[in-house]
Amino acid sequence: MLGAVGLLIVFTALVIFNMKNKGRRQCRWREYRHAEGTRYTCVQCGAVVEGERGSPPRICMRGSSKSA
Ligand SMILES: [Zn+2]
Repeated sequence: MLGAVGLLIVFTALVIFNMKNKGRRQCRWREYRHAEGTRYTCVQCGAVVEGERGSPPRICMRGSSKSA
């Protein structure tokens, strides 16, 4: 019983933490260089953005570059 309550508290804390970080999610941009420029892929949300070399996007681009 006590273990279940502990899990519930941890889960609730995680949900609140995620809600607080909504909108300013820290993306982890991975750089892929190709012929036309540089493509940045966010390993956190999976967003793909074309950009300039050495300057990854600062905001989370989740959903904005997905057409499907
Ligand atoms: Zn992201």
